[in-house]
Amino acid sequence: MKGKLLSYDHERAVFQVEADVYEGGGGQPPDRIKVKGPGFYLESDETLKDNGGTFWKVKKVSGEVPNSEVEVDVTIDELWRLEVSQQHTAQHIFSALAEQLYGWPSEGFAIFENESKIELLGADEDLEKYAKLEQQVNEVVLRRIPVRVYVSEEANNELRKSSGYEHPRIVEIEGIDKCACGGTHVTNTGLIGGFAILKVERKNTRYVRVLFAAGIRLGRIAKTYIEREQRLKNLLTGEVEERVYQLLEQKKQLEVEKKNLLELVKVQMGQSSEVLWENLPLDMQSMKQIASYCKGIGKDVVLVNQEGYFAIGGPHADVHFEEFKQRGATGGGKGIITGKIASASK
Ligand SMILES: [Zn+2]
Repeated sequence: MKGKLLSYDHERAVFQVEADVYEGGGGQPPDRIKVKGPGFYLESDETLKDNGGTFWKVKKVSGEVPNSEVEVDVTIDELWRLEVSQQHTAQHIFSALAEQLYGWPSEGFAIFENESKIELLGADEDLEKYAKLEQQVNEVVLRRIPVRVYVSEEANNELRKSSGYEHPRIVEIEGIDKCACGGTHVTNTGLIGGFAILKVERKNTRYVRVLFAAGIRLGRIAKTYIEREQRLKNLLTGEVEERVYQLLEQKKQLEVEKKNLLELVKVQMGQSSEVLWENLPLDMQSMKQIASYCKGIGKDVVLVNQEGYFAIGGPHADVHFEEFKQRGATGGGKGIITGKIASASK
């Protein structure tokens, strides 16, 4: 489409353009645009708004961009526009039905890269209700109802959400929703393609947050998870759930074995005349158990593991700890003394 580059700020890496593009707002991200002018090229998919108006952030630039008004060719990423419009139109239907069916008004709408968020005031988390909502949204998709967009002659009081404008821009899906909205939408509900609720979670005592997706991104999401499943299968060498279950069982078994071995080690150390045990392949918890066993039978023991952590128990624990401290160790404790030897002494 024809457009006009209005300004270009090299330092801030932003520009302004006049064209039939969506600049974002109301929870909807902007178009992804490409601007071609005489001897230059710009790309952007992000805007920022300040007192001076709306600015596009430069994502890519080549050539010499003039800092004056110039005729340009503007193209938008049509698939992205469709994808975003699908989410936005689905949200209208979802919000209208949530209010009609359960009396839950919608707030805090936002479209993200892979899903959208909406917050329902006073909602509960009964998943059956959401399943019903999901089905009804899809039934509206099936009915291919036209989505009408027009500027109202008068301030309208029958809107699901009013705008405060005297002549609001109305988006109407006949028999389903009528709402003031400045975003982009598909021209009939059939173009939404499909709708799925991905997650229902309580945000706080007042709001339930619903994550959903519609249309072409559903395919992308499915692909992501199928690829993830395949990576997990390769990693675990088998069916994911089956292998995770096996691994948890093995872990339980290993914990029992570890406990039994520790019992043996404990008794052996208790009977031994050795006091200092170094370079042990044991964690702190195990060393503490051994040290307190030895303390219980009145035997001194000094245990140091491979990482340089130690546990000291027995009637002369303080004396042994003093020696360690003089060599730079840190630590402390009553009964069982634990800590770490200085790394230089390792
Ligand atoms: Zn809208």
